[in-house]
Amino acid sequence: MRRALAGGFNASSTVSSTRYQPTAATIASMTAPRLLDVELRCTWCGDHFVYSAGEQELRVLRGVAHEPRVCPTCRKRLGRS
Ligand SMILES: [Zn+2]
Repeated sequence: MRRALAGGFNASSTVSSTRYQPTAATIASMTAPRLLDVELRCTWCGDHFVYSAGEQELRVLRGVAHEPRVCPTCRKRLGRS
């Protein structure tokens, strides 16, 4: 029981504490950025929303590096000026 728990903890901590190690795939994606849709959680309503590859590309073009913290609905609600 205890051993199983420790094993599970070790396994998960190994994954979460893994340092960023660029793999061949990562390096390839850095040289030729291929964006993927990611699911983010809105800090306002707590809903999950898709941060699409197209939107990411737009943000990169605008020089916005960080991910959006609110979903499109809340963004509209905030009346982003
Ligand atoms: Zn929201």
